[in-house]
Amino acid sequence: MQAIRWLAPASCLLCRCQHNRACTICVDCEAAFSRNQHACHRCALPLQPTQAPVVNRLDLAYLSVQRLCPPCIKNPPHFFRAHAPYLMRTGMRELIHLWKFQNRPQLTGLLADLLLSRLPTASTESLTTPWASAQTVLVPIPTQWRRQVRRGFDHTWLLANAIRSQWVQPAVVRPWLKNRRYRPAQHRLNRKSRLADRQDRFVARPSIAGHKVVLIDDVMTTGATARAAARACAEAGAHSVAVWCLARTPAPFGVE
Ligand SMILES: [Zn+2]
Ligand SMILES: [Zn+2]
Repeated sequence: MQAIRWLAPASCLLCRCQHNRACTICVDCEAAFSRNQHACHRCALPLQPTQAPVVNRLDLAYLSVQRLCPPCIKNPPHFFRAHAPYLMRTGMRELIHLWKFQNRPQLTGLLADLLLSRLPTASTESLTTPWASAQTVLVPIPTQWRRQVRRGFDHTWLLANAIRSQWVQPAVVRPWLKNRRYRPAQHRLNRKSRLADRQDRFVARPSIAGHKVVLIDDVMTTGATARAAARACAEAGAHSVAVWCLARTPAPFGVE
């Protein structure tokens, strides 16, 4: 296999340079992805690195100081933690667009690998996760069937299954969350409309009761979708809810 790579090096999907890596993108393009390193501990909203930490006093019991954004303090979501390792900027944005809108489901494995490679280690995460040693149920946040038909595949379902197969910890994927009705695509709505989105847009199956759930999505924008999905899970009796997605859009100017 190494000899084949040497004889016929691959071309990076993003920059077109030739490389010998067993991966669709080159090491430089992967290193150039913007990381979401200074984020709200709960919803992964990017925060200014120099911004004084906003600390919820109730969270001091967690041994580490948690930075929380004002919306999470004022109106905490029903998920306890969001993992969104990248910012929706050059590179990652292009990769996600190729995957979702240019019919490249074969990129799912790469995206799952990128998400898992930035997952906090068990030793640090166990301080703040109530599900550290239990089996995890990965629940894709569903897309509307009309969009699935247009796209040709269900991207969050594929992503959840790729994560399950590549993650070192045992997990199962279950389609326990459903849309209640058709709505316009989130990227066609302005921020105000997204925030005004009704919170009952999802319904969770009763089977979710008592389970430790990780909701899977590709991108978190305002967080309204994740909040609505987590609310449905919590109302159906889920033990705990976390959210994993590939990327977070940077906060609009003035929100932080
Ligand atoms: Zn490249
Ligand atoms: Zn937050």
